[in-house]
This record gives sequence, structure tokens and C-alpha cells, in this order.
Amino acid sequence: MEQTLLLNASYEPLKIVHWQKAITLLCQGKVEVIAEYDREVRSVSISFRLPSVIRLLRYIKMKRRFDYVPFSRANIYARDDHSCQYCGESFPTTELTFDHVTPVAQGGRKDWENIVTCCVTCNRRKGGRTPEEAGMHLRRIPRRPESMPALRITIRLHTAPESWRDYLYWNAELEDT
Ligand SMILES: [Zn+2]
Repeated sequence: MEQTLLLNASYEPLKIVHWQKAITLLCQGKVEVIAEYDREVRSVSISFRLPSVIRLLRYIKMKRRFDYVPFSRANIYARDDHSCQYCGESFPTTELTFDHVTPVAQGGRKDWENIVTCCVTCNRRKGGRTPEEAGMHLRRIPRRPESMPALRITIRLHTAPESWRDYLYWNAELEDT
């Protein structure tokens, strides 16, 4: 494992960097080492243990980019917390589907503002109608998410180094499978 988890000053995971980048940040005085691997690296004059978790000394604000989150089934479910936007119940992914709030037949588009997570039962009940026509109410107005934690896509807890785990749990939206 030659990767280092970079935390914000708030201990929020920011990204994974190569250990050489971690050393560079350390030499620049920008980070402190929170955890190390057992493995040592030796150069001519010094030896040190590879940092596994480092933390920025100064808090940086995460950039929010409106075009960052891809419009995908997984991200729609994530935005809606894997819960049906009509009955409010949570379901495993296999029991979810999506719903066009305004049906395609009535000009509904396939975008962040018109697609919501829906359970099979509610989807069947709503059929090809608008929520008003079906007498159903949306829990939340669907919107394009501003940003999602970058780590969400790339880290799975069971493959992450032991020393990362305390920090990964910080982010409740991480996948746990
Ligand atoms: Zn439902």
C-alpha cells in the first residue's frame, strides 16, 4: 500500500494521494502525520515510515462544481438516500427504480429535476400520471446535487487500510459493502 489518505483540517477525508506526494506536503509544512504504515523508506540521509493518514494544517474549502456529479442511477439513489420519494421508505438498490415525476408522455425530461428514486409499489401506483393526478406527494423537490464526496466512488471500506477506517467513517455516505 503506497497510498496516503489526505484529511482536511476538520478530519474530513479529501482524497487519496501517492505517498511521495504526502512526503512533499509534509516537507512543505502543510500537513501533519496522523498514522503511519510499518514500512520504512530509506534515502541516503534519512529514513522514515510511510505516512498512511495525513491531515492538512489549514482548512481548505472544497470546491463545489455543479457539473461534477454524473447523472446516473447510482447517484440519483444516493441523492435521495436510497429512499422512495413518495412513501419515504428506504430500500435496497434492487428494490428501487426511478420515476419520471412528470411522465415522459406529458413532456417530462430525464434529468435531475424530473427523476426521483421510487419503490416498485409506488411506481406501480403512480403509473403514467403526475403526482397531482395520482394524489401522491414528493418528499423533496428533486434538484441537481451540488457535489458529492469524491471518496464515495473510489473507496470501499473493506479494502481500505486499517488506519484509514476511523476517518472514513466520518463520511456517513461512504459505501459499506
Ligand atoms: Zn414508495
